[in-house]
Amino acid sequence: MPTIKAIETMLVQLPTRREHKWTGLTESIGRYLLVRLTDSDGRVGWGEAPALKDWGGEFGRYFGESASIAQLVIQKYLSPALAGVELGNFAEMHARMDAVIRGYPYAKAAVEFAAYDVTGRWLDLPVHMLLGGRARALIPVTHSIGLISIAEAEKEVAQVAAEGIKTIKIKIGVDVKRDIDMVRTIRGAVGEDVELCVDANEGYRTPGEAITTVRAMEKYRLKYVEQPVMGIERIAEVARAIDSPVMADESAWNAHDAVQISERRAAQIVSIYTTKPGGLYKAMEVAAVCRAAGIICNVNGSVETGVGNLANIHLAAAAPAATLSCVVPVSTPAEWQKGQVGGIYYRDDLIVAPMKLVDGAIEVPTGPGMGIDVDLAKIEKYQVRD
Ligand SMILES: [Mg+2]
Repeated sequence: MPTIKAIETMLVQLPTRREHKWTGLTESIGRYLLVRLTDSDGRVGWGEAPALKDWGGEFGRYFGESASIAQLVIQKYLSPALAGVELGNFAEMHARMDAVIRGYPYAKAAVEFAAYDVTGRWLDLPVHMLLGGRARALIPVTHSIGLISIAEAEKEVAQVAAEGIKTIKIKIGVDVKRDIDMVRTIRGAVGEDVELCVDANEGYRTPGEAITTVRAMEKYRLKYVEQPVMGIERIAEVARAIDSPVMADESAWNAHDAVQISERRAAQIVSIYTTKPGGLYKAMEVAAVCRAAGIICNVNGSVETGVGNLANIHLAAAAPAATLSCVVPVSTPAEWQKGQVGGIYYRDDLIVAPMKLVDGAIEVPTGPGMGIDVDLAKIEKYQVRD
C-alpha cells in the first residue's frame, strides 16, 4: 500500500481580470498556497489553500488564515504528522491533523485535496468516486458580481447572461440604497430568464435593516438571500420575516454548525465549502447533515485557482444535498480565454486545460484524481516569495 512521503508548499499570485471584493475583504484574491504531495511510489497530487485573513465565522467563532499562515501550519505540524499514512485512509489523515493542531481548516483542506488527487491517480478513479459517486455530471455556475460600480455590473451581467450563465450572485451589504439600486439595475439588464441571488456577507448592522432592504428587493425576484447579518439566531430572525429563502455561509462552517442551523430553523439553504470544514471528507459530513435535515446546498468558495476549484467541482458532483448552482470559477488558462467573462476572475490559470462550460454548467472531469493536470510552467511563472 503506497503511503504519504513528502508534502511541499509554494505561494502563487494569479493576475485578476478585474478587482473582486466583498464586504469585509481587504486583500486581493488569487494569492494562495499550493501543496504538492508525493507518495512512496513517486506519484504526485496537488492541493490549494485559498486562505483569506479576513474570512472567518460569526462573532470570532472561526478565524482568518492567510497563505503564509497555512504554509507554516503545514510545514511545521501537518507534514510531519502525516508521513507514512496509507493513501485512501482519510479518516486517519484527519485524526492525525486534528490531534497535532486545532483549527486551521484551510491548511488541512489543502493537504487533503492533494491526498485525494494522488489517491485517485493511484486507483485510476476520479475524486468524486472516492467521495461516494457522481450525483450529478454537470455543475451549473453562478457568476459572482463583487463590489463594483452599478454601471460596470450592468455591462458585465449582460455579457454573462449572453454567454449562457443562468444564475448571478450580487454582493450587497454595503449601503441600503446602493444595494437596492444594484439589484433593480441587474434585473433590468438580464431580464426574467436569469436567477438572481444576493450575498451581504453579514454586512447589515441589524436584522431589521436587512429585513427592510430585502423586502424592497424581493419584487426583483431573489432566488435566495445569503448571510444577511452575523449570527445564526439573527439570520433566523431575518428568515422568518422575508419571503425569499435564506442561505447560511459565514454561519455554516462544519457539520456541527449545520446541526445548529437545523435545530434553530435559521436557514433553508447552506453554503458548503471544501475548506470551511477542513477538506472534502468533512464537507461530505456537512452535506449529510443538511440532507438529513432537508436543507439544500450549493458549493461556494473563495475564487480558487483551478487547483482548488477542481476540489469544489468534485464535491459539487458527489454531494447529493448540493442541488443548487455553485459559485465556482470557470477555471480557464490564458490560451483558452477569448474575452468571455462568465465565471472568469483571473487572466490565466494553473491547470493545463480549461474547465468545459456547456450551457452555463461545468462538465465534471472524469479522469483520475482531480481530473485535470496542473501546469508546472504556470506554477513557476506565478510563484511568489511571500
Ligand atoms: Mg457568501
